[in-house]
Amino acid sequence: MTLLILAPNARPKIWAREIKLLDPNLDVRIWPNVDHLDDITYALVWDAPKGILSSLPNLRIIFSMGAGVDHFFLDSTLPENVTICRVVDSLLTDAMCEYVILHTLRYHRNQPELEKQQKSHTWNDLSDKQIHAKDQTIGFLGMGELGKACATILAEMKFSVYGWSRSPKNISGVSCFHGTEGLKTVLQKSKILICLLPLTKETKGILNACLFSKLPKGAYLINAGRGQHLVEEDLLSALDIGQLSYATLDVFNEEPLPVEHPFWEHPQITITPHNASITDPKSVSKQIYENIRREAQKIPLLNTVNRRLEY
Ligand code: NDP
Repeated sequence: MTLLILAPNARPKIWAREIKLLDPNLDVRIWPNVDHLDDITYALVWDAPKGILSSLPNLRIIFSMGAGVDHFFLDSTLPENVTICRVVDSLLTDAMCEYVILHTLRYHRNQPELEKQQKSHTWNDLSDKQIHAKDQTIGFLGMGELGKACATILAEMKFSVYGWSRSPKNISGVSCFHGTEGLKTVLQKSKILICLLPLTKETKGILNACLFSKLPKGAYLINAGRGQHLVEEDLLSALDIGQLSYATLDVFNEEPLPVEHPFWEHPQITITPHNASITDPKSVSKQIYENIRREAQKIPLLNTVNRRLEY
């Protein structure tokens, strides 16, 4: 049994070391150092060149190095009948909670206005603008591993939290909605909207002018899902007309964000370089090892992806 690490830009040697520490007997190769393609039974993948996975005739499991698996479905040659597993990891979830809480509180506490005031040496406590957490409405698009964890913490902090998902949910402290009508309700309520959806056929371009028009005037957007959720020119227009006040973006259609991109200089856009939550190789190697063990013992695998739903 051989594991191939197919992730040229994602520290493959560190992953190889961590996995070998867990299972010294596992044969681990780093692409392109493979002698016989038919030796490969497992592949650990991030941003791989298209077409390689389909050249591995004995591949049994594809592991994504991240929680998102949209990168696989861009490859039209993705082999069928091979199980895909993704990352669900408490460290990844904790980091996303930190990111979402940081940027939510920044908007809740009017921090961009305060920073502007500091530049002009203005002393104004903004008490006319500051509201209590219970009166601040926060909406989540996506109530999976990440959305649910972030929403729960904000609810515990007494914010009014709404969540939208594909299937119905019951989450303590969070008003949960699903489906088209449910989306309308969540948008109407959300002064701060946070996108933690997976990128799929259904969610591509969901953050568009029509969606923004349903938010309360002057709403804030935080997108830590994927860049292709957002229609970039619609965001710029919504900021221009005041339908949105500010946006925090961690993910972009093109990454790294091109140096000449208008988002860099926009006074109402905060950019982070896709670092909201980064996979920890040591922690995540354990679930790869566990799934390899399970497969050998014919036990159901953890964190499998539904290919039809693309997440
Ligand atoms: P999950 O698969 O656990 O959750 C996805 C959520 O989205 C679920 O609640 C699901 O609904 C909902 N959803 C999916 N499709 C639809 C739809 N068509 N309509 C309504 N709701 C939908 O994913 P995670 O929470 O683990 O991760 C979410 C995404 O976050 C990843 O796919 C990735 O793109 C992004 N991410 C970004 C990172 C960063 O650093 N910026 C780091 C890690 C992840 P249901 O519950 O009904 O299935």
